[in-house]
Order: sequence, then C-alpha cells, then structure tokens
Amino acid sequence: MTLQLDLEALPDSKYAAQLRKSPAPVRFPRELEREFVRDGLQMQRPVVRFACLLVLLLLLLRCAQLAATGAFFIDPVRALMLAIIGLCSLPLVGVAFSSLYERLYLRLAYWLVPLRGVIVAYTAVRLTAGGAPAVMMLLPLLMMGPLVLLGLPFRAGLLCAVAAFVSAFGTALTLHLPQGVLVSGTVLLLMTLAGCAVAVRLIERHARLEFLERHLLSELARQDALTWTSNRLVFDQALTRLWREAKSAARPLAILMLDVDDFKAYNDRYGHQAGDAALRSVARAVQGCMPRAIDLLARYGGEEFGVILVEVDRTQAAAIAEAMRCAVQALALEHDNSRCGPVLTVSIGVAVLQPSASRNCHGALQLADEALYRAKSAGRNRVEIMDDVEHRLLVTGEFSKDISAQLRCATPGP
Ligand code: GH3
Ligand code: MG
Ligand code: MG
Repeated sequence: MTLQLDLEALPDSKYAAQLRKSPAPVRFPRELEREFVRDGLQMQRPVVRFACLLVLLLLLLRCAQLAATGAFFIDPVRALMLAIIGLCSLPLVGVAFSSLYERLYLRLAYWLVPLRGVIVAYTAVRLTAGGAPAVMMLLPLLMMGPLVLLGLPFRAGLLCAVAAFVSAFGTALTLHLPQGVLVSGTVLLLMTLAGCAVAVRLIERHARLEFLERHLLSELARQDALTWTSNRLVFDQALTRLWREAKSAARPLAILMLDVDDFKAYNDRYGHQAGDAALRSVARAVQGCMPRAIDLLARYGGEEFGVILVEVDRTQAAAIAEAMRCAVQALALEHDNSRCGPVLTVSIGVAVLQPSASRNCHGALQLADEALYRAKSAGRNRVEIMDDVEHRLLVTGEFSKDISAQLRCATPGP
C-alpha cells in the first residue's frame, strides 16, 4: 500500500477492509466490484470513444473502398459481414457519446464486442484464404481491442479476445490455410493474447489498489477522525444543499445542535482518553436514533454535534431529539462531577423551519444554537425546540438574546 496509514485503526470502511487483505484481492465483493467497474468505465471514456470511432472509421473506409471497386456487390457474404459489423459498431459509438454511457455501454458491449470480434476474425481469415494476406494484420488488433481499448473488465475482455481467436483459428482450419501461415499466425496471435492479458492484469491490479486508496482518502476527508461521524465541512455543505432542496420542495427541515453536559468536568474527573471514548459512544448512540440514510450526523466541533433531519415537522423532530437524549443517558456513563445527574447527558437545541426566500440556513443554525442555549440555561439534559415563531424574533449577528423574554412580550396575555 502506498498510503502511510494504519489500516487497523481505521473505521469500518469497505475500502479499508479490502486494502487490509493480503494478497490483494483480484475481485471485490459484488457491490464494490460494480462500483469499481463503473468508476473504471468513467475514467476510460475518452479511450472508449476513440476506439469506437476508430473502428467505425476503418469500417467506412473499407466500405468506400469496396464500393469504389465494385467488390461489394460481387461477394454477398462479405457485404453481409460488413453490415453485421456495422450494426454492432453503431450502437457502441452512439452510447459512448451519449448520456446513456454509464447505464448502457457495458450491457451492449458484453454482447456486441464478442459478436463483432468473431465476425471480423472469420472475415479476415476468409479474405486471407482468398488471396489477401495483408488482412491478417487485423487479427492482433482484434485481440488487443477488447482487453485494452474498449473499457471492458478484464475477464470480459479476455473472453472476447479468446472468442475472436477461436473464430480465426477455426476458420483457418476449415478453409485449409497453408500450414506455415496457420502455425505462424497462431503463434503470433497467442503471443499477442498472452502479452496483453498479463499486461492488462497488472494494470488492473494497480487500478484496484488506486481505486481503494482514492475512495478511502475521500471517505477520510469527509469524516471526523475521533467519532467517525461526518465532519464540519460535510455538515456545512449538506446544510446548504438540503436547505435549498427543502425550499424548492416546500418541506420543513430540522436542525439539531447537541452538546455534552459538563464535559470539561468529565475530562477533569476521568481524563482526556475517557473523554474521547465517551464522545465516540455518544456519537454511536445518537446515530442509532437516525435510521434514515438521508439524515446527517456530524461532529460540529469539540463536544458538540450537529444533526440535519429532512422532512420532519415539530412533533417528529421533538420525538427524535428526545430519543437521542434518552439514548445518551441510557449509555449510563458515570459522571460524578455533572450538575445534572450521575451519568453523562446531552442538551439538545432544535430548530424546525420551513425554508423560504426570507430565511437562510445560517439563521436556522443560529436558531438551533439559541434553543441549545435555552436548554443549557433551563438546567441541561433536556430538549428545547424553536420554530418559525422564535425565528421571527431572531436578530442575525446577535447571539443569545433573551428570546424567551421577547416571546413573553410578543405574545398577548390571556
Ligand atoms: P456545558 O454543559 O455548558 O456544555 O459545559 P461543558 O463543560 O461541556 O462546556 P465547555 O465548553 O466549558 O467545555 C467543553 C469541553 O469539551 C472542554 C474540552 O476539554 C472538551 N473537549 C472538546 N473536544 C474534546 C475532545 O475531542 N476530546 C475530549 N476528551 N474532550 C474534548
Ligand atoms: Mg460546547
Ligand atoms: Mg458541553
């Protein structure tokens, strides 16, 4: 491995799990293998386009040449073969240059590339037997194409190349090609096939390693190194995106700010290492209350976590926040120095808002912070919720105004 990382100490990552294996796997588990193939396909797209165009160009040149000499119409088998090769090539070119590439290219290529290879091999040997030995030069290209140029995974590429070889060899035997041509041609093709297969295998092994490392690094760049939740960068970007999406869908969004109570005292009493372990446990407990993949938990900083819940109203957000508070309390992590009980607890501020043109996500975040401040002031180990009513009283840039007092003034008495 080229990354200088202790893989054993990394979180439960599918990429790290494969990198830990020795010897390096030649094939990944199903889902990861699909991801690898998709990834490779995207990277090879320029090469695939080039190869598809090249084949089409060669085909057109050949057709033009045959049409000019009139040979097209003399040999109907040749014309039929060229037509089939064209029918195999056109969809591949079309898909390689369209937005359907990722979805369709491989599905088509799995069928059309071997079919085309078999027919080209047959036609080339037939022409050689008919007195045009130069056409044999095409055959090594036929071996290399599927393995190197056409974006196929190694095994599929190898099968295509072998199919073309078998077609060429079988045709040569059937048409009784001179023994010298048969032997030298077969040796040349087998050497090309073996050379390409070994080279592509080595390249693929390197590509697998590079794929795992690249994705692991991108995962690590998005995670908090202590709790393995998302990090602040991911939280900020997700908030902007989810806020925009909620606004256009006219759906509410909830932001939760969780802060561990009296955590400084916890560190002082049990030590920083224990504090770190506690933060990890808190993160796991909170994550356990978030079954939907779309919701996000991130370490906001220090002993604070941020949560974004999509499409939840005030009641649902309150229930989830309360479940989180109880889950942390249920961890029963002893905390002698806490002002709010014998175990470690969290306070949670919740802002539930309907995004609109007059609001932005920074205001929503500030509101969640205000709610957290209120939860702390009211004694900790509790959930406080604020929504549109409080948001109207929020003055951007003025943190922790006494919104409760304002509310009392703003709300008409009984
Ligand atoms: P409050 O209930 O008002 O939130 O009190 P608090 O003590 O939790 O808040 P304060 O902001 O005074 O202290 C936060 C503490 O969190 C201080 C810091 O040592 C601790 N802390 C922040 N990040 C980490 C960390 O990564 N690991 C550990 N062990 N402690 C951390
Ligand atoms: Mg704090
Ligand atoms: Mg705290």
